[in-house]
Amino acid sequence: MNHPRGTRRRFLQQVPLLAATPLLNAKLDSTAIPAARSGGPVVISTWRHGLSANEEAWKVLADGGNALDAAEAGVRITESDPEVRTVGLGGFPDRDGIVTLDAAIMDGSGDCGSVAALEDIMHPISVARRVMTETPHVMLVGAGARQFAVAQGFAPTELLTEASRRDYEKWLEEDGSYRPPINVENHDTIGLLTLDKDGNIAAACTTSGAAYKYHGRVGDSPIIGAGLYADNEVGAATATGWGEAVIRACGSFLVVELMRQGHDPTEACKLAVERVIAKNPDWKDIQVGFIALHKDGRTGGYCIHPDFDYAVYDGEGNRMVLPDSKVPRNE
Ligand code: ASP
Repeated sequence: MNHPRGTRRRFLQQVPLLAATPLLNAKLDSTAIPAARSGGPVVISTWRHGLSANEEAWKVLADGGNALDAAEAGVRITESDPEVRTVGLGGFPDRDGIVTLDAAIMDGSGDCGSVAALEDIMHPISVARRVMTETPHVMLVGAGARQFAVAQGFAPTELLTEASRRDYEKWLEEDGSYRPPINVENHDTIGLLTLDKDGNIAAACTTSGAAYKYHGRVGDSPIIGAGLYADNEVGAATATGWGEAVIRACGSFLVVELMRQGHDPTEACKLAVERVIAKNPDWKDIQVGFIALHKDGRTGGYCIHPDFDYAVYDGEGNRMVLPDSKVPRNE
């Protein structure tokens, strides 16, 4: 479908970037950026469930596929796994017992699509991609997102599994009040970043959000710039943890901009966590983690609390990495 965004992009490509470039690159110092390691392909994703998502994304990249296809294919694995209780099928419901999903996808050219508070659809990431390719918009939410998904041929599915229903009923009996959780069981978004052999970068992020959230609550994951950001000129970043805190700091965009200024991916994630801390006085009660992928293939991550880990797949294989954290491991 031809829509106005394409025209807008072509127009923007013709506008000289002379005014912006010196400012953005003000701190760029070639000595601050180690030489490119190996380039692509590289896949990096949040949490241990990232290992199987990485496998799928890697298959696409190893077959010569592009970064965007790989990112989508990777996180679809997590979305359809009922054992992952924080993404897609089997995700924890909100406080009304309804599973609502948030997802976004972005490629390094700047194209992006997103859905929020989407019900009954197992693969919100693919709906987000259709928003990107089939509409003039970036984001659809709630009933409108569901209506669009069904019109695009996505079959409505019951996402509340028996295990999630049992946990919800237990939560109602035992608690029924709402508090931001920091423990690992309750927030495990998958955010996945890819670099293909041609140097294209993409990001995908999908979640059922915070367990037992208010109905209609939207976290950082589908917000472009908060939950994820990708720019072929620099790299990409994605976030996990307490979404409200990430939104306040425009977290993923910040990580990418810090890399643009010459910071290494881990240092960029660390500085972004410091910004989150500065904007959130309750930071000790929440978890936030960022991961980043530089266009030269370097990766990094950093978090508030030490229970966060991430998966990296590159020429050296698929493995878990434990990043440094603001709160030391033994505290
Ligand atoms: N960031 C997600 C949200 O706040 C939750 C998570 O990472 O698990 O919705």
